[in-house]
Amino acid sequence: MTTTSQPVDVLIVGAGPCGLAAGIEASKSGLSHLILEKGSVTESIRRYPKLMRFFSTAENIEIGGIPFPVSSVKANRNEALQYYRKVAAYYHLKTKVFTEVQSVQKQGDIFRVLTTKGDTFYAYKVILATGYFDKPRWLGIPGEDGPQVSHYYDEPFKYSFTNVVIIGASNSAVEAALELYRHDVDVTVVHRGDDFRSTVKYWLIPDVKNRVKEGKIKTVFGSCVTRISQDAVRVHNLKSGEITTIPADFVLILTGYTPDSDLLQRCGVELDPETQIPQYNRTTFETNVPGLYVCGTVLAGIFTEKVFIENGREHAQAIIDHMMGREIHKVNELVQRI
Ligand SMILES: Cc1cc2nc3c(=O)[nH]c(=O)nc-3n(C[C@H](O)[C@H](O)[C@H](O)COP(=O)(O)OP(=O)(O)OC[C@H]3O[C@@H](n4cnc5c(N)ncnc54)[C@H](O)[C@@H]3O)c2cc1C
Repeated sequence: MTTTSQPVDVLIVGAGPCGLAAGIEASKSGLSHLILEKGSVTESIRRYPKLMRFFSTAENIEIGGIPFPVSSVKANRNEALQYYRKVAAYYHLKTKVFTEVQSVQKQGDIFRVLTTKGDTFYAYKVILATGYFDKPRWLGIPGEDGPQVSHYYDEPFKYSFTNVVIIGASNSAVEAALELYRHDVDVTVVHRGDDFRSTVKYWLIPDVKNRVKEGKIKTVFGSCVTRISQDAVRVHNLKSGEITTIPADFVLILTGYTPDSDLLQRCGVELDPETQIPQYNRTTFETNVPGLYVCGTVLAGIFTEKVFIENGREHAQAIIDHMMGREIHKVNELVQRI
C-alpha cells in the first residue's frame, strides 16, 4: 500500500485528454501535481474502435499548445494515442496508471484520496476528470450480460460471417453498422425511434441510408429488444405490439455511456436528480465542495454529447486560473449550452 504524507498541490483523477490538459496547466503554473488513472494514459481512447477516426480536426483536439501533425486532417485512434502519450512525456506529467480512485474526502483544508487498492494520497486541490466511457447505459433486459453481448464495439474482423444485432441509432451505432457491413457481417440495427438520430454526423447519413435502401443493412425501427438469448434477440414493436425474433450471434448495445455519478457522490459532489449534472460553478468549474473541481466530459451529466475534447480541454486553464487567483480563461461557448 502507498501512502503519501506530503500533499501535492493538485491531484487529478483521470488521464484522458482533459485530465492531461489539467496536469499541463498545473505544471506550467508551478504547482506540484499527480494524475491517478485507473487504466493506461488516455484509456478511453485506447478502448475506442480500432479503425475509428476522430470527427474533429487534429488541431481542435491538441492539448498543451503542442501541434498535432497527422497524415490527413483528422487523426485516427493510433495517432491520437501516440500524440497524447508524447505530450504527457514532454511535460513530464506525474502519472500513476492502473490506480483507480474510490473516493475523495475533505479533511480540513486537505483532500484525502483513496484508491480501490487501499492506497491513500493527499492534495490541497482535486480535479475530477473521469470522463464518461466506463459506465454504459444498461437496458436492464434479460441476457444483457451474456458473453456474446457487449456495450463496446472494438473491431470488425471478429464478427465476419455472423449475424450481429446493433441496438441504438447514434454515431457509434451507425459507424459500427457500416464498418461491420463492409466486413461481411449480416447487420440489423434495432432502435426505439423512427429513424437514425439527428445527431449522427451529416456525412454518415447518406452512406447508411443508401445501404438500408439497398437492403445491405437491415433496420427495425420503432422497436425495443426485450430479451437476448444465445443466438437471437426478441423484439417488441412499440406501435403494433408485435413480437418478433431476430437471429443474433452477437449483440452490440451502443446506446451510450454516462459519467460515474456514484463516484461523484462518493466525493461529496451534489448532482441534479434529473440531468445528473454535478453542482459546479460555470466559470471556475469548482463544485459544491470547495477545492474540488470537475473537468472534461464528467461534468456533462446525461448530455455527454455536449462536452468533448474540443471544448472539455479548455476547462483545465480556467480551473488552474481560479486556483492561482488569476483572471479566469473563458471557455468555449458550447459548454454554456448545458
Ligand atoms: C468513437 C468516439 C469518437 C470520438 N471522437 C471525438 C472527436 O472527434 N472530437 C472530440 O472532441 N471528441 C470525440 N469523442 C469524445 C471524446 O473522446 C471524449 O469526450 C473525451 O475523451 C473526454 O475526455 P475526458 O478527459 O473528459 O475523459 P476520458 O477521455 O474518458 O478520460 C477519463 C479518464 O479517467 C479514467 N478514470 C475513470 N474513472 C476513474 C477513477 N475512478 N480513477 C482513476 N481514473 C479514472 C478513465 O480510465 C479515463 O482514462 C469521441 C468519442 C468516441 C467514443
